[in-house]
Amino acid sequence: MTTTNTKINETREQLTNALKRLAQADRPSLSQTVKRDLLEMVALDAKLALAALDEPIDENVIDRATIVRVYSGKPGCGCGCRGNYSTNPATITRVVNKMNARSEEVVLSSGIYALEDDERYNWAYTYDSIGQNVDESSSR
Ligand SMILES: [Zn+2]
Repeated sequence: MTTTNTKINETREQLTNALKRLAQADRPSLSQTVKRDLLEMVALDAKLALAALDEPIDENVIDRATIVRVYSGKPGCGCGCRGNYSTNPATITRVVNKMNARSEEVVLSSGIYALEDDERYNWAYTYDSIGQNVDESSSR
């Protein structure tokens, strides 16, 4: 998520630069040489922005700041009988770090990140997922 935002910001920055230079190049007082230089920079900015868009984005890297609860337990049941839910900050950080080390295996569904294998289930709940649950339980 952080990765995605960084990429989008980089792209925006390059496009903003390109627009500024394009506006500068439009001034009648400029010599042909200066205009050419500015337009070449615009072309380069646009190329960099395109390259940033094409880079693979890892959607499943978890932003620790968005996680409010984690679960870690043996497969089979998520009620708590085979593992533990935790809102302890240190535990959240430990589980999120473990999940991010294998981010290519992490899946996101309804605001909950999951990393599951034969040994263990790891789930990380975003604030959004908890909010949705609260809304469901409070509406009769
Ligand atoms: Zn159970």
